[in-house]
Amino acid sequence: PRPMEDLVTALYNTTEQRQRVEAKDSVIHWFKTDLRCNDNRALALASEKAKEAAVPLICMYIVSPQDFEAHLASPVRVDFILRTLEILKRDLAKLDIPLYIETVERRKQIPDRILELMEQWGSRHLFANMEYEVDELRREANMVHDLAENGKSFEVVHDTCVVPPGQLQSGSGNQYAVYSPWYRSWVAHIHADLDLLELFDSPNKNPGTARKRFKDLFDCAVPEAPSNKQLTKEEKRRFHSMWPAGENAAKERLDKFCEEKIGGYSDNRNIPAEDGTSSLSVHLASGTISSRTCVRTARDRNKTKKLDGGNEGIRVWISEVAWRDFYKHVLVHWPYVCMNKPYKPEYSNIAWSYNEEHFKAWCEGRTGFPIVDAAMRQLNHNGYMHNRCRMIVASFLSKDLLIDWRKGERYFMEHLIDGDFASNNGGWGFSASVGVDPQPYFRIFNPLLQSEKFDPEGVYIRKWVPELQDLDNKEIHDPYGRGAGAKAKKAGYPKPIVNHKDCRDRALNAYKEGIANG
Ligand code: FAD
Repeated sequence: PRPMEDLVTALYNTTEQRQRVEAKDSVIHWFKTDLRCNDNRALALASEKAKEAAVPLICMYIVSPQDFEAHLASPVRVDFILRTLEILKRDLAKLDIPLYIETVERRKQIPDRILELMEQWGSRHLFANMEYEVDELRREANMVHDLAENGKSFEVVHDTCVVPPGQLQSGSGNQYAVYSPWYRSWVAHIHADLDLLELFDSPNKNPGTARKRFKDLFDCAVPEAPSNKQLTKEEKRRFHSMWPAGENAAKERLDKFCEEKIGGYSDNRNIPAEDGTSSLSVHLASGTISSRTCVRTARDRNKTKKLDGGNEGIRVWISEVAWRDFYKHVLVHWPYVCMNKPYKPEYSNIAWSYNEEHFKAWCEGRTGFPIVDAAMRQLNHNGYMHNRCRMIVASFLSKDLLIDWRKGERYFMEHLIDGDFASNNGGWGFSASVGVDPQPYFRIFNPLLQSEKFDPEGVYIRKWVPELQDLDNKEIHDPYGRGAGAKAKKAGYPKPIVNHKDCRDRALNAYKEGIANG
């Protein structure tokens, strides 16, 4: 089961051979999910190549509505990417580097179009950071080959993870299927240094030279979102102030978090009413900050300068950023988990429910379980949901409602601003007990207990379910079960759509039966 890992290694190992191609009129960096200048490996290599050959560096980004569809990108995520491109284009232009942006209808046109552009710009060198999704890996591998046949080199390098996939192996030489030993190996691999790149330095040193030569590329505009991904005016206003885009915003957010919040992270991270986490996921998902910068900045604040010791908040936060790497390693090693398959085949036979009414109630935050409804409404309104709540609603959908977890996984991608295939699939696999290193299937979250434990005073619920604002701290977790049914009904809040205890028994049986028949 290692073809993707082999592809990753093969892509990486041909680098040296490809470097022999001589540069001509320009060198290109192709931006994808790495929308930043600093600590960007492929961009730094492209810049070095341009410097060495004394030719301009050109940057490009290809917008493909079909790519947005294939990646189930939410409108708020598409909007964030386009806003980031505006900023990146401006920042690069100040360094006399054009960011050329073009829209192609179909994603399969991208390789040919890139070849045409390379011809047009007299370029023999293309650089990009590696994306680990199967289609992207296959496309890049074909492009390396096809461009080489045309006398051009395409370097695809590791960038998005702190430790690239394929570098950590268990004692028996396999990919770890359990997070804890994988994490120990991750920390040991990083050792003392994190190998962060210097601040980005433009190779286009003669001000105006590139602009004169490639004026059209500077002048092109960032396109509008495709019609099915457009936000309303009100949504734009809301999301733009909630989620400032671009590399500087990311760095400011990281610095502020490290300054003010990271020390208390391990105590506050599970309380959805607290602003106790970094909210950096959107930046990590779009590449407006590197995971190395995050880990290094946090570690440097630790008096012990350690990744896995010293301040508890710092230690725990770094171990959370590591989960992102873990799931990307999983994606590369077991790509089928992101192709709608459970990690273990025996979980393929669970008899899921496809009750559309229940699914709709879950999507709209009208299940009658206040903590679940608050969380779903946060997602629908902010394009974001707190991690604790992601686990609660994912468990509720897959176990209480016994609805196929893939429907929830998809709904998340279609609504999250930080939607990331590997992390989202990992989170759903964990909560629905079908993934790598999952929650055991017989551990079923009780939404009421979760609510009382993590939102004891109902602050989060009151914010997102205003119908329940006047209920006291006991009633608010379960209005109809705790004598506040009349008030809840009057305010238009629904009764619970299911009974948790019955659902628990049903889920245990369904999982047991599915596994036995699997
Ligand atoms: P912080 O707590 O500040 O953590 C810092 C960073 O570490 C995050 O930004 C993220 O990049 C990474 N991280 C933290 N926890 C996890 C985790 N469990 N798995 C992977 N990476 C993690 N995260 C996404 O980035 N995109 C998703 O599409 C996504 N879908 C999820 C779906 C489910 C069902 C679950 C349970 C979790 C999902 N997560 C996803 C993980 C996690 O919920 C978010 O990364 C986190 O809530 C983002 O908030 P933050 O940036 O404040 O995180």
